[in-house]
Amino acid sequence: MKLLDIAKSWYLFIKADAEDLQKAETKINICDGCPDKVQMSEFGQYIINAVNSESSTYKCGLCKCPLASKVFSAGTCPAGNW
Ligand code: SF4
Repeated sequence: MKLLDIAKSWYLFIKADAEDLQKAETKINICDGCPDKVQMSEFGQYIINAVNSESSTYKCGLCKCPLASKVFSAGTCPAGNW
């Protein structure tokens, strides 16, 4: 994922509109059932909870991206699940 895509996904994580949230929810539901998701470090969980305590505190075990922001990116699932 390019740096600009990463920055945009974090921006949308914080400022998403209803349409962005709906798209992200579809993706996070797929990630929730994925065996490749892994729990973030305690520090990572702290950061995510500080921004939005209802967001996922898991990351993708394949690309290592936090799922809370990854699901808002224009990127794709590295396993082809979305
Ligand atoms: S992005 Fe893809 S591989 Fe990573 S946790 Fe989500 S569904 Fe699994």
